[in-house]
This record gives sequence, C-alpha cells and structure tokens, in this order.
Amino acid sequence: MAGNFIEEELKRLKEQGLYRKLRHVEGEQGPTLQVDGQEVINLCSNNYLGLANHPVMRQAAKEAIDRYGCGSGASRLISGNMTLHEELEDKSAGLKGTEAALVFNSGYHANIGILSSLIGEGGVILSDSFNHASIVDGCRLARATVVVYPHCDLERLEEGLKKAPAAARKLIVTETLFSMDGDEAPLAEIVNLAERYGAMVMVDEAHATGVCGPNGAGVVAKLGLGDRILVQMGTLGKALGAFGAYVAGPRELREILINRSRSFIYTTSLPPAVMAMAIAAVDLVYKEPQRRLALWHNCRALRDGLRSLAYSLGESQSQIQPLIIGDAQKCMAFSEQLLQRGVFAHGIRPPTVPPGTSRLRITLMATHTHEHLHRALKAFEEAKVEMRMEDRG
Ligand SMILES: *Cc1c(COP(=O)(O)O)cnc(C)c1O
Repeated sequence: MAGNFIEEELKRLKEQGLYRKLRHVEGEQGPTLQVDGQEVINLCSNNYLGLANHPVMRQAAKEAIDRYGCGSGASRLISGNMTLHEELEDKSAGLKGTEAALVFNSGYHANIGILSSLIGEGGVILSDSFNHASIVDGCRLARATVVVYPHCDLERLEEGLKKAPAAARKLIVTETLFSMDGDEAPLAEIVNLAERYGAMVMVDEAHATGVCGPNGAGVVAKLGLGDRILVQMGTLGKALGAFGAYVAGPRELREILINRSRSFIYTTSLPPAVMAMAIAAVDLVYKEPQRRLALWHNCRALRDGLRSLAYSLGESQSQIQPLIIGDAQKCMAFSEQLLQRGVFAHGIRPPTVPPGTSRLRITLMATHTHEHLHRALKAFEEAKVEMRMEDRG
C-alpha cells in the first residue's frame, strides 16, 4: 500500500530513541501540572515569570472579548488591523527602546518572515549553529548563502564575514540567551564584527525578554547595544505568558516587513483577547520586578542543589539549565525516572540539539516555591542512583 514508508519511518524513530509523543496536560500552566493524570513539578515550561495565569491578564482578555469580540476576521493588511495590535506594537517598542515594532502571529512566523524579507539571492546569512529551528527555516526560505558558524565562535564568524563577497548583503543572526543551553551570545563582539564588515545584526530574544536586563527588556538592553542592532525579535508566549511575537527596530524595518514578509501578510491577525493579554503582560513585566528576583533566586538554589548532588553543570547562568546526558535513549529513561518521582523535566534530543548531546532541559519559574525545589532535588538524587544501577545491570 502506498504510505507504507510511514510505518517504517516510525519504527526507525523508535529504534533510535527519537520517537516523539504528546503528553496530556490538564489544568493551568503553573509551577506544578497535571501530566497524564499525575500531579508533577513542572521543570519544563517557558512560562518563566508565571504570568500565563496572572489574574490581570485573564481580566484583560475577558474585557477584550466583551469589547471587540473573538476573531479578528482578516489579515492585518485587509481589515484585521485592530486598535489593540497597534497598542501592543507601541508598548513593545517602548520596552525595547526602539522607534517601532511589528507584531507577528508567533516567533516562528516572525523569524521566517524577517529572514526571507531582508535577505535574498546573492545575500549571505551568518547563523550560529545552535540557533532555533525557526531561524534555520528562515535561512532556507531566504534563498541566500547560509554560513553556519560553530556556537559562539567569533573567529569562525569573522572568517565567514571575510569570505563573503564585499558587495553582498550580509546579516548575522543569533539568539541572545540560547534556548537549549541557557548561555549568552558574545553580543558586543558580534556587533563589533558586524560593523567592521558591514553586516546587519538580527537577534532572537525569545528566552531573554521579560527575564534579563533592565525592566526585563532583554540582553540587548542590558548591554546597551540597541542602537547598533537592526532587528530585535522576541516572543510573547514565553516569559510574557501570552502568545504572538514582536519585531522591534527602526520605522523602515517595520515598513519593509509589512510590505515583504509573507508570514505577516498571508495570515489572519491575532485575535483581540490575545493582544489584550500581551499588552497586560508587558505592563506586568515593568510593574512586578519581584518576579525576576524570585526567578534568579530559584536558579541559584537549583544549581547549588544539583552541584551538591555531583551533577556537572555547564555554562548556564540563566533560568535554562541543561543536564547533558548524551545518548538519546538514556536521556529519555532519565526523564521517565524523574516523572515517576513527580518531576517533569523534558528530554531534548536530536535534531533539536546536536547528536550525542541529548539532555534534560530544566527550566525554572518565578513561582516555584522552596518546597517544589526541595522535592525536585530529592527526585534528582534518587533518579541518579537508579540510572547508575541500570548502567551496571
Ligand atoms: C520558541 C522560540 C521561537 C518561536 O517562538 P513562538 O512564539 O513559540 O513561535 C523562536 N526562537 C526561539 C529561540 C525560541 O525558543
């Protein structure tokens, strides 16, 4: 029968330990979750500040529905550009300290739309090897020459810039706080290189916005590099607890994206309730700095705890703490051991991360309590013993 390859493909994924399945989550997104019917401590959410169920955001969404209804009816360029979209854009530009901002339906839409609008055939994109899949796909859509430089390797980045034809349009793209390793890009050095070789810079602050920098404005703001970076994008669905994404930069950047970006033009705009909760979220990021302090406190407590259990931790200083296991099957077995002990820490495997670096990607939230972390560390202690036993067996 035509389609037999599907079964074979699935079988192969299972044999390689790369088969993915959906877990069933009930109730709200909080520091604990109901997963497949079991109450567990949630160590794999990007809802870093715990805003996803904030009463102010719930209220904002309800009021928007009462006032504007549910759907937005059309794309932004037709009749779907509602008051709330522009209000959110002004707020996002305000947070980022840029002239303008444009809202996209998600970070994925934003990345594919930006990269394919700014660079075309004959152009050169220099992309960090750990960049997110949405950046990788954006590079493909751009039809440009793509030079992938090893993670945070400035020498190799400079080599790539040197080799690019002088007349070619060039763009360096990097995450600021990397999603799978929790480390920061050497952004000041990257910007210096970009200026030396006449390249544009685009940053993805998906995991930094709301979390790092003054008022949660991100890594670019922390380093004071806003004036030297053309494109700053980030998502509204992670620390901000809502949905959608923004691109912040000069007014002309907004205009070219409105005119060129297919993932902006050819899709129905986000509904008013989503815009209202995102607007409320940006306000909360300013108004509730104690959430960031609680998050950093939790990061330190977890790292100290894991170190005292003799786990070796990498570079991360952030809310994203990878525990590198290596082998994909072993990584999933470890994740399963933790789940049996009431801790949900997701295993991340290729192709999301490079082969041989399968890991638990532990993420913290401002709303984890001391008790949650204590229970989680106990599970890490027990699971470690269990895994060793399996090794010997
Ligand atoms: C999650 C993520 C995106 C995509 O954002 P969504 O709004 O979830 O589509 C883009 N870049 C990075 C680095 C991400 O982690």
